[in-house]
Amino acid sequence: MASAPTTVTVTGAGGQIGYALLFRIAAGDMLGGSRPVRLRLLEIPQGVRAAEGAALELQDCAFPLLHDIEITDDPLTAFNGANIALLVGARPRGPGMERADLLAANAGIFGPQGAAIGAVAADDVRVVVVGNPANTNALIAAASAAPHVPADRFTALTRLDHNRAVGQLAELLEVPPGEIADVIIWGNHSATQFPDVSHAGLADGRSVLEALTERLGGADAATAWLDDVFIPRVAKRGAEIIEARGSSSVASAANAAIEHVRDEQLGTHRGWTSAAVVSRGEYGVPEGLVCSVPVVSRGDGEGYRVIDGLGFDARGRARFEASVAELVAERDAVRALGML
Ligand code: NDP
Repeated sequence: MASAPTTVTVTGAGGQIGYALLFRIAAGDMLGGSRPVRLRLLEIPQGVRAAEGAALELQDCAFPLLHDIEITDDPLTAFNGANIALLVGARPRGPGMERADLLAANAGIFGPQGAAIGAVAADDVRVVVVGNPANTNALIAAASAAPHVPADRFTALTRLDHNRAVGQLAELLEVPPGEIADVIIWGNHSATQFPDVSHAGLADGRSVLEALTERLGGADAATAWLDDVFIPRVAKRGAEIIEARGSSSVASAANAAIEHVRDEQLGTHRGWTSAAVVSRGEYGVPEGLVCSVPVVSRGDGEGYRVIDGLGFDARGRARFEASVAELVAERDAVRALGML
């Protein structure tokens, strides 16, 4: 007997990332080839027509796993019975917009969405926030869904940063990306993030640091490449793509969101991945902040678990603490606005 459909809600479904996400969800890339999905698409009124257009194309794909699609501008309708929610729609930073304005505009989106999730989502709902500033938007949504949904059901996306880091290493070391394990993105999904290779290894048994040292002709050269090329390039890759493509990264962001949910639901298989999760104080991160850390999932419905107790060198610790300080400042700014 076919399993009951999983209800997947996508917000900002009429936007670029939404367009790249929906077809892969419907094709079974996110939840596997035997789980039917029911799509619930949330848009603001002016985005509904674009979402309807995507729905027409989804119909024309006749995906066997796509049970039905509903499009709405009402969060209570969109999140009704949701098992999985991908919060993509967000207010972009406009010209001259201060950070506090951006945080406030997004709190006005993610607060009500969190409240709607708390009111009507399924008991097992899990939520990933893609729309920026993703970590703090997730914090706001989780706070607004309380006490009906446990905060740890909310996560934010740093899988794209993780994949970008793996891609950079694969290119330099001339190995397939699948042979690189245990890279970590620490902190905020922003320019302060810390892409860390100090625990990473290759399928041939070497550590990434050993392989970089061999490839670049010494430990100092490896350190210089990490500091001057790798870390800034991963953190600023979005700008590089805008410059080359004339528009922001879309397919890779959608792919990362698919992989984030897939691994959370079905399990990580080789080593760990990176996700921003609600802190329980691991690594000294203040409790409740949504911070990127190394995680694994057993695919048992319990979601991501933090790999705790890894070490940092002094410079790595300083980078991580700077990114956590930025998350604290974002949280405090939202609190000061009375929105948390
Ligand atoms: P995109 O679909 O390109 O991006 C959506 C969000 O994802 C943005 O906040 C963007 O952040 C973020 N994002 C995260 N990672 C990345 C990445 N690597 N590359 C690019 N973006 C990333 O935006 P569109 O403007 O095309 O679409 C947004 C849609 O959301 C619109 O249709 C709009 O109507 C809708 N919307 C819906 C809301 C709702 O459902 N209530 C509320 C607000 C908007 P960044 O801005 O930093 O690029």
